Amino acid sequence: MTSNDHFRAKILARLDELGDRMQEIETELDKPKSKDLGEQAIDLEDDEVLETLGVSAQREVRELREALKRITAGTFGVCAECEEQISFERLEVVPQARLCRKCATKAAT
Ligand SMILES: [Zn+2]
Repeated sequence: MTSNDHFRAKILARLDELGDRMQEIETELDKPKSKDLGEQAIDLEDDEVLETLGVSAQREVRELREALKRITAGTFGVCAECEEQISFERLEVVPQARLCRKCATKAAT
């Protein structure tokens, strides 16, 4: 198994997981709201938390799909900034990483 196959499987598994999670969030958001005013406030807060979770899951899904495209294009694991190979260890943790550790650190500061 090449490392591309390895990461493709990893990314697909992660996408599955995120799909399930977003499904759960949708179900939770669609639940009928309680009539009690105090509980409504709590429901609203919960909804905000859920939507934040939903948004970050969506962003991760988008990044993972882009990573899949890079696998197909043969550019997966290459830093978009300095074009160095991103370390295997980093890709193990963040398979959707576009930047090597050095460039990501630079971009964050
Ligand atoms: Zn780099």
